[in-house]
Amino acid sequence: MVPWLPGVLEMVLGNYKTCVSARSTDKEILKGAQDGGIVTQMFAFALEEGIIDGAIVAGSGDTPWKPEPMIATNRDELLAAMGTKYNICPNVSMIKEATRSYGLDKVGIVGTPCQMLAVRKGQLYPVGLRDVPDKIALALGIFCMENFPYQSLEMLVEDHCNVKMESAAKMDIGKGKFSVYTERGAVSQIPLKVTHKYEQPGCHVCLDYVANLADVSTGSVGSPDGWSTVFVRTKIGDDVWSRAADAGCFEVKPIEDVKPGLELVTKLATDKITKNQKTLEARATFGLRADGSPRGLRNPYL
Ligand code: FAD
Ligand code: SF4
Repeated sequence: MVPWLPGVLEMVLGNYKTCVSARSTDKEILKGAQDGGIVTQMFAFALEEGIIDGAIVAGSGDTPWKPEPMIATNRDELLAAMGTKYNICPNVSMIKEATRSYGLDKVGIVGTPCQMLAVRKGQLYPVGLRDVPDKIALALGIFCMENFPYQSLEMLVEDHCNVKMESAAKMDIGKGKFSVYTERGAVSQIPLKVTHKYEQPGCHVCLDYVANLADVSTGSVGSPDGWSTVFVRTKIGDDVWSRAADAGCFEVKPIEDVKPGLELVTKLATDKITKNQKTLEARATFGLRADGSPRGLRNPYL
């Protein structure tokens, strides 16, 4: 195979060394995390061990559910940023500040697949990010089918789910539904067919579901509730994951032992590529680029 032309399955799930189902063994993390607390647990371990000296995460910001990138340099700050915010949080924009203003030499960063692509491009072609290539110490990717502009999220939560943004304690997409949980324990759900028209249009040309370019990527799909599917992809990712698992940070099961397992991850990743490839082909007919991320760019840190 020509190295810069990934094979079909590699394109769907990316290169990985291992894939497991896992969850944090830390009860405090599990309680506030979106799924199995993989991201927060990995950063907490990496901070403790000096593998990173800070992590760029999606902080709460001033407006409910409108995240702002922040640099967490301790466990409390990591825990305060747990959970999924279904709108754009420009974490990549903090990289320069992390190295320059905060003086971090070993930066952790979490992001969606498109953000992992931006991180790798920044490392490979550091035109505007001259300090960065050697300072990204751990890049954690989160699966992503689509994202929403803030106004759209507000309409989904307030108008369709009848929950005030400030009363929402958790939001989740899964099993064909968008769900909003309130502080008082109520849940309001709408079918995903309602949410589609609110999606960020840029997401419709995105071909990466499982953050192919991350060191480790994770999402809920494929694993039972409260657990996460984890792809360990690069040498760095493998080193940090193995050390954290050996230190007892995670309960781990072979992905083959859980339902629905990799079959569903592969199906959803394939569905995303197939659907968005059509948008790309349509764009090509009016002269726009027809290649979507991350084809053509292999993870350089395998
Ligand atoms: P936690 O330990 O709770 O940590 C989550 C980390 O992600 C925190 O550091 C937080 O600050 C950061 N974060 C939260 N929101 C954002 C954001 N918008 N941008 C960047 N960083 C953020 N998983 C699936 O399995 N299938 C999907 O289709 C899917 N779609 C997603 C769409 C979006 C827009 C996002 C943001 C996430 C999506 N996920 C999806 C991932 C999933 O919701 C969880 O984020 C993931 O499983 C990690 O869970 P955890 O318990 O390990 O993370
Ligand atoms: Fe980024 Fe793609 Fe997710 Fe949209 S669907 S937020 S472009 S990774």
